[in-house]
Amino acid sequence: MLGVAASGALIAAGVLAYGVRGPRSTLLAPSVWRGRGSRRAVALTFDDGPSESTPRVLELLARHGARATFFQCGMHARRLPGVARAVADAGHELGNHTETHAALYLRSVRFMRREIAAAQESIAEAAGRRPVLFRAPYGARWFGLGAVQRAYGLTGVMWTAIGRDWVLPGAAVARRLLRSAVPGAIFCLHDGRDQRRNPEIAPTLDALHQLLPALAGEGYEFLTVSEIL
Ligand SMILES: [Zn+2]
Repeated sequence: MLGVAASGALIAAGVLAYGVRGPRSTLLAPSVWRGRGSRRAVALTFDDGPSESTPRVLELLARHGARATFFQCGMHARRLPGVARAVADAGHELGNHTETHAALYLRSVRFMRREIAAAQESIAEAAGRRPVLFRAPYGARWFGLGAVQRAYGLTGVMWTAIGRDWVLPGAAVARRLLRSAVPGAIFCLHDGRDQRRNPEIAPTLDALHQLLPALAGEGYEFLTVSEIL
């Protein structure tokens, strides 16, 4: 049997893990995980780009008249400024996903501020837009992040469902998200893979091939996060 102190510590660890990673937790920083359900619409979001494969995502979205939100890393926006700008020019919303895809867990406020400020600059310079949305890499928030978000006018965005497109085949990704489709849902996918150059995103593209027509067939529109909030 666990002693009282040990079980207390376990509960505290559980609460902390939820606060740090739980998509619906606002314990460490204010964030949203779904939009208004008043319209039959979902918000597709793509993290870790821009990448060499982002134009293929843009093509698929355009084919379905879908707008989406791209949480870009500053390092990738600087590496591929033309792609970063093409995303914005196609009518999609840009969000901040830190400069280097840093895990903010256990980090100082100074570190978080540096990562977020650098990404704001990199994205603004590459794409000509300054994000008002922020998604923490790995969904991991930490103490002090809320104040940093406020200082930069950023709304934290988590998700209703995550595709796990970095590990699952496309069909499984599409099934996961289709199961979670409700008006106002925010879906998390990836047009990059953390810090990698020229990442393999075939499962993401395969998932989109199935997901876009399936959701459209159920009468869903595809809006940006700001539009759906
Ligand atoms: Zn990420």
